[in-house]
Amino acid sequence: MSTAQPASSRPDGAPTPDDVAVVGAGMVGLATAWFLQERGVRVTVYERDAVAAGASWGNAGWLTPSLAAPLPEPAVLRYGLRAVLSPSSPVYLPLQADRALLRFLGSFLRNSTPGRWRRGMAALAPLDERALQVFDVLAAGGVTAVTHAADPFLACFRSVRSRDALVAELRQIRSAGLSDVASTPLSGTEARALEPGLTGEVQAALQLHGQRYLHPPEYLRSLAYSFRDRGGELLEGITVTDLRTEPRGVLVGTDRGPRRHDAVVVATGAGLTGLLRPFGVRQPVQAGRGYSFSVPVERMPAGPLYFPEQRVACTPLGSRLRIAGMMEFRRPEAPLDERRVAAVVDAVRPLLRGLDLADRRNEWVGSRPCTGDGLPLIGPTRSPRVFAAGGHGMWGVTLGPVTGMALADVVTKGEVPPGLRPFDPLR
Ligand SMILES: Cc1cc2nc3c(=O)[nH]c(=O)nc-3n(C[C@H](O)[C@H](O)[C@H](O)COP(=O)(O)OP(=O)(O)OC[C@H]3O[C@@H](n4cnc5c(N)ncnc54)[C@H](O)[C@@H]3O)c2cc1C
Repeated sequence: MSTAQPASSRPDGAPTPDDVAVVGAGMVGLATAWFLQERGVRVTVYERDAVAAGASWGNAGWLTPSLAAPLPEPAVLRYGLRAVLSPSSPVYLPLQADRALLRFLGSFLRNSTPGRWRRGMAALAPLDERALQVFDVLAAGGVTAVTHAADPFLACFRSVRSRDALVAELRQIRSAGLSDVASTPLSGTEARALEPGLTGEVQAALQLHGQRYLHPPEYLRSLAYSFRDRGGELLEGITVTDLRTEPRGVLVGTDRGPRRHDAVVVATGAGLTGLLRPFGVRQPVQAGRGYSFSVPVERMPAGPLYFPEQRVACTPLGSRLRIAGMMEFRRPEAPLDERRVAAVVDAVRPLLRGLDLADRRNEWVGSRPCTGDGLPLIGPTRSPRVFAAGGHGMWGVTLGPVTGMALADVVTKGEVPPGLRPFDPLR
């Protein structure tokens, strides 16, 4: 258990919470719980299913702050929505959108301008900057699962022209304030020298430096283990149904009955707004569903491979290669759609050889929690005892720990630092 002492009081005069509930045992919830412990708080995590039951299980596991930019970007306006209506497109929208989806899309399009993107990126840059160091803090504090250096990390393209789009985006990310974005352009031949599995279709590549990756299920298990080992209470199989604030705390309603805590952090991924709406949170959080599966390979790539045009991510996970992709805006509970898996298979087949794409295991669909402006929700709601943590879209694994560390300070100190204000859940 941490030896850190809880602060005695907060600037707003409210007592420092000693006992905090966290709802959701994904990367964001568990990291927040862990950093609250670090500040001397007693923490209970409620999880309706099991650790990493949501998006934190089947994702690509990249820790790539250099790429962690807001999702709404000007290219969306250039290509238009026409490009996303086909089931084999890497981005899929159902023709019959419900009201929530229409609201989300409206907000998404309004935010897909160069000015909004730059502002969003400038807000994310300080989180990106610290994201990897926070994994080292977790490691030093007892999280034993490793983060691997992504060496090499290759983004691969069919032409130099398509690579130019990512080069330009990285330049803009750098000019928005993220200084540590280093990359080297490679020819197709140079990329194949590093990664012989790439086929002749790959004509250009960009090697990103200084990034990492992890094995998502192993990492989340290890984080949960460390949380428990430090005295945390992890209640799996319990659904939180509602939250009620009281003069001396928050009553957390569950399907097993209510329990009182001093404060609560809601980290329920794509379902974030459900519990938070009564506390003034209006930002739509939409499930951007992605798919993954794993396959055996003749020769394991030395690091992650990214095919941006196809929106496919490949990550070495143990003895198999995890392949992830798609952005499907549908209800989180909709069943896995085999056509989407087939689209990912068809996208990767011409680009990478030595895969047995028929021997797929762990076919999975999960929901990225996407906000209309591409920024997460981190901080207090209308109640100073109810906090939001989530909405990181494509980048909740990379940004989960730095979010947890920052939010643990807000919960215990009662102050929102200027760097977190763009993520105000009430915006
Ligand atoms: C295909 C794919 C690839 C991705 N690749 C990457 C990547 O390489 N790098 C990266 O940084 N990010 C990646 N992401 C995004 C990342 O997975 C998510 O942003 C991140 O996992 C979100 O974490 P979270 O903790 O907010 O939500 P989740 O992991 O979804 O966790 C929320 C948890 O809350 C629980 N819950 C929900 N409601 C309740 C309730 N009422 N009561 C109790 N418990 C509840 C759920 O069961 C779940 O366990 C990817 C996502 C996908 C889909």
